[in-house]
Amino acid sequence: MRRVIIDTDTAGDDTIAILTALHHFKVEGVTITGGNVDFDQEVENALYTIQVFHPDYHVPVFKGYEGPILGNQDGHVTVEDVHGSDGMGDSLFPKATQRPEEKHAVDFIIETVKDNPGEIALLAIAPLTNIAMAIKKDPTIVKDIPHIYIMGGTNNSLGNITAAAEYNFYVDPEAARIVLHSGVPITMVGWDMCTEYSVMADEDHAEIAKLNTNLSKFFIDINRVVLKFNREVHKINGTTHPDTLLVAIAANEELMTEAGEYYVDV
Ligand code: CA
Repeated sequence: MRRVIIDTDTAGDDTIAILTALHHFKVEGVTITGGNVDFDQEVENALYTIQVFHPDYHVPVFKGYEGPILGNQDGHVTVEDVHGSDGMGDSLFPKATQRPEEKHAVDFIIETVKDNPGEIALLAIAPLTNIAMAIKKDPTIVKDIPHIYIMGGTNNSLGNITAAAEYNFYVDPEAARIVLHSGVPITMVGWDMCTEYSVMADEDHAEIAKLNTNLSKFFIDINRVVLKFNREVHKINGTTHPDTLLVAIAANEELMTEAGEYYVDV
């Protein structure tokens, strides 16, 4: 099994992306960065998601940077309106038994990559703060990271947080720039792709609900608020799953019917 670290601002679709990654990869650790909702809530959401995958499964969770590198201009933007007060569709799940590790996420990324050169790919489904800071703290990791898969940015100026900006790059544009210019091979899944290829329609939700398993119930709970939000605000019947699309592509690149090589900047 290929080995990865997931960097996530766990709320909503991040949970399904983590579950997908746990199925397809040996996940060495989950690192949390500031993004979707309150930071400590994101940590709890990641721990709970791992417990949902399997009650006895242990994947260490590391706390990283709670906000962007230069994030004091407008304040950090969270999106409880999209994902619910807890980022989990207002499910208010109990705390998981597993607790976060003491080590900082950035040190975990650096040490794990250095100890396993060429082995550990990064699945980046959040603002890129932790990964950028890891590269800044120890630039020698660049040659040892085989690939970074990034959900972020957009290829046609259609945004999801402003008219023209995608959320992850909007929250920490400096971090996005550092990572894009790092020299590590990158596959980027932009928001433009997600409106087309990551939508699960109301019928898909109904089909999943019918499965009536723990995981299907979790999926329905998580998506309760975003389903309503999309219907009212975006006039979409269904939900988008950008982080899961990214993980799916990382797991099986043959899913990509088309890809191009671009110079990308922020
Ligand atoms: Ca995310």
